[in-house]
Amino acid sequence: MRGGARAFWENGAMDMPEFLHAIPKVSLHLHLMGSVQARTVVDLATKHGVPLPEYDEPEDLYDYPDIYKFLHMYDNSALAVIDREDFHRLAYETLTDAAAHNVRYREMFFNPTTHMAAGVSYETAVDGLIDGMRDAQTDHGIECRLIAAVNRMETPELAVTMVETMLEHPRDEVIGIGMDYAEAEFPPERFWKAYRMAGDAGLHLTAHSSEDAPPRNIETCLDLLGCERIDHGYHVVESEAIMQRCVDEQVIFTCTPVSTAWVYFGNDLDNHPIKTMAARGIKLMLDCDDPPMFKTDPSKDYVLAYEHMGFGVSDFRRFMLNGIDGCWVTDDTKARWRSEFTAEFDALAAKID
Ligand SMILES: [Zn+2]
Repeated sequence: MRGGARAFWENGAMDMPEFLHAIPKVSLHLHLMGSVQARTVVDLATKHGVPLPEYDEPEDLYDYPDIYKFLHMYDNSALAVIDREDFHRLAYETLTDAAAHNVRYREMFFNPTTHMAAGVSYETAVDGLIDGMRDAQTDHGIECRLIAAVNRMETPELAVTMVETMLEHPRDEVIGIGMDYAEAEFPPERFWKAYRMAGDAGLHLTAHSSEDAPPRNIETCLDLLGCERIDHGYHVVESEAIMQRCVDEQVIFTCTPVSTAWVYFGNDLDNHPIKTMAARGIKLMLDCDDPPMFKTDPSKDYVLAYEHMGFGVSDFRRFMLNGIDGCWVTDDTKARWRSEFTAEFDALAAKID
């Protein structure tokens, strides 16, 4: 029963937001703790006696003035996630939400060291998430894999420990490492060793880069860390040479309009660098980063990109295919998805008013 989106378009024409809700999607840029509904945070905090900031409505917890306050709330929420069944619940809920937007496949970031600092073992976190992923696949047809993300505001040594822990407890569903948290003061080269270990062990590699730092970080991620994708990458527009290189090498960028417009670009979606990146031929796909925490969802980022950035049907078709190209799945699976997704996309496009 994939695609709760289906009911409203089956019988007739649709407008562009309905179309963007209904199209098949892959999701390559979403953080577990950023995808937790505020009500779930309150439930789990109550269950475990974890204090939260004061609020009238649970959603008030997700009002913050800047990225550092946001990250504080993000970490605070993580303290309330303790048991294997809590992780099951988080994975199941976010994937159920995603399936209602016709997300078919997701590679989801989670931060093992954040949970380990709260006294939760890596195995508890990862096995609970896998339980939730399996149930969501059974109930909603959505597939998910996990990317363990380095918190770049912590030490390089802790990142190495994270990778060692992953290798001691291998799981088929954990397919790569990433790097998140605030970038400006914590450049990627600090983490070369964790990336080398993960790459040598056959894990896939990606990193948040040039979200809030110069385009040089993109080259560091590609050349030193060995990243296969770039998450965000907006400051690439400041370097003609690096932008051309990424176009030539068809580097996949996973871009999140709503969260980054809010944090870095004065909430100005009309002038977000994604527009320039797409116009210059950067191979990008769109996703929603931390949806409830930024009051968005897997379709709303597409709809706002449509309304503010001038993208049309052919752009969204290209972004969909770029996303499939960026997935860490077999070539056979990619080929099958290309044909299934484009058939579904084109059938939906024929219904637009
Ligand atoms: Zn992100």
